Amino acid sequence: MTTTPRGELADAEASLSSALGAGAVITTDAELDAYTADTYWPALAAKAAGTPIARPDVVVRPRTEEEVATVLAIAHERRVPVVPWGGGSGTQGGALAIHGGIVIDLRGLDEVIEIDETSMTVTVQAGKNGRELEAELNARGLMLPHYPASVEWATVGGYIAARGSGVLSTRYGKIEDLVLSLRAATPAGGLMETVGVPRHAVGPELTQLFVGSEGTLGVITRATLAIVPMPEERRFAAVAFPSVGAGIGAIRRALQVGHRPSVVRMYDEEATRLAFSPVVGEELSGVYTVLAFEGEAESAALEERRTIAIAQEAGAEVLDPALGQRWWDRRYDFYHPPHQPELPAIWGTLDVVATYARIEAVYEALRTAVREPYRDTGLQLRMHFSHWYSWGTMIYGRFVVPDGGPDALALHDRIWADGMNAALDAGAVINDHHGVGIKLGPYMRRQHGVSWEAVRQIKAALDPHGVMNPGKLGL
Ligand SMILES: Cc1cc2nc3c(=O)[nH]c(=O)nc-3n(C[C@H](O)[C@H](O)[C@H](O)COP(=O)(O)OP(=O)(O)OC[C@H]3O[C@@H](n4cnc5c(N)ncnc54)[C@H](O)[C@@H]3O)c2cc1C
Repeated sequence: MTTTPRGELADAEASLSSALGAGAVITTDAELDAYTADTYWPALAAKAAGTPIARPDVVVRPRTEEEVATVLAIAHERRVPVVPWGGGSGTQGGALAIHGGIVIDLRGLDEVIEIDETSMTVTVQAGKNGRELEAELNARGLMLPHYPASVEWATVGGYIAARGSGVLSTRYGKIEDLVLSLRAATPAGGLMETVGVPRHAVGPELTQLFVGSEGTLGVITRATLAIVPMPEERRFAAVAFPSVGAGIGAIRRALQVGHRPSVVRMYDEEATRLAFSPVVGEELSGVYTVLAFEGEAESAALEERRTIAIAQEAGAEVLDPALGQRWWDRRYDFYHPPHQPELPAIWGTLDVVATYARIEAVYEALRTAVREPYRDTGLQLRMHFSHWYSWGTMIYGRFVVPDGGPDALALHDRIWADGMNAALDAGAVINDHHGVGIKLGPYMRRQHGVSWEAVRQIKAALDPHGVMNPGKLGL
């Protein structure tokens, strides 16, 4: 960890206190401790060992979008790093102040500005907690159809900045499909707002520039997102495919003829046994798949009937739909003890995405590179396919090593390197929805090839002194 020179910091702190008020500027050790780890495994392990990999010098808690712009202007002028912090639920180390400086905690920006029930949009400040926003919308018979498993901690800004996805994405899309326009502050330019109509032809679309930018270009301060009515009905089904390949083929066909299940979660055999079975409370084997269909009752029933027929043509056995409902009711249990591992275990999620033409090769590549070679460490690799598109799908490969031992960090890094290189070799993209942060930064140049230089140039234009979240996204 490199640190920011004391003189610049002291000047910045004085400017921050006079701009935001002393109460919004935090420098006490106890409070700074809360910002030394998000959910990135090496950060959690280092924090537990008493040697955190990151620590801000100061945390600021702005209450308005203008204050956010002021913080960035101060950081720019004083050349002090500034790192956005939403809910701190990120798995990639994105919100960690690895070079010290300022952490800007955005949770004070939590206002719902407008719910437009005619256009079906919500405009909300970026620090709004996901669960709270959902409750406010649900009370009006509406929902933001973005349900990440981290909804109780994550913020709207974090959803967008890390390019996330929710459990209903196969029907409603990822966050980049749901965000319609946004406002952001950049260090050199102050507040900017992107065009807010369904489609336009007035030049490039700047909203998408900030989706997935992980705080490296600026701070998202508000967003307008698509909302939908709560479905009249949500129906569950469960099937077991004879193989992963048969399942991929069937779901591909269903999507390509136009069906839109809201949930398609297909567990490979190891994941069925080790992850799905313990949570639903039944001993199962095979390639278990949960499906959900929703919307108007009649169209949901039709989509279910047609999709199940396509699955049966691929050899699927139709199971009791109660299994699907039980999975839905317990879907957050996967992320809590006893199902969520704890230190000294090592864990991580190899989250890769590919076209249908390549996805089976990617699946085999991960098995070969990670599942088999690390068996002697006790590693389990539980793979499921959970976000499906008309031209490809993703693999959520959760690995767990029960006890990493004294060289746990080196083992963790080796598993990642083997997994990422195998996925890239097989034609995958290294992440579908968890983002890059520190964890995947080293693969970005290889991932983007010659286009990487364009990303660097955009960064230099918006953040000429490189103060925005340095060391993330491979920048
Ligand atoms: C148990 C668990 C389950 C998870 N499940 C899912 C899931 O189902 N789907 C999914 O997509 N992710 C999931 N995640 C990952 C994580 O929760 C998401 O990436 C989430 O969107 C991060 O939001 P956050 O507000 O916590 O962001 P943070 O962790 O605080 O930040 C993430 C990144 O975004 C930047 N950032 C945050 N706010 C802003 C802003 N306003 N402007 C600019 N940059 C900003 C940060 O600097 C950092 O780089 C899960 C994590 C956990 C721990």
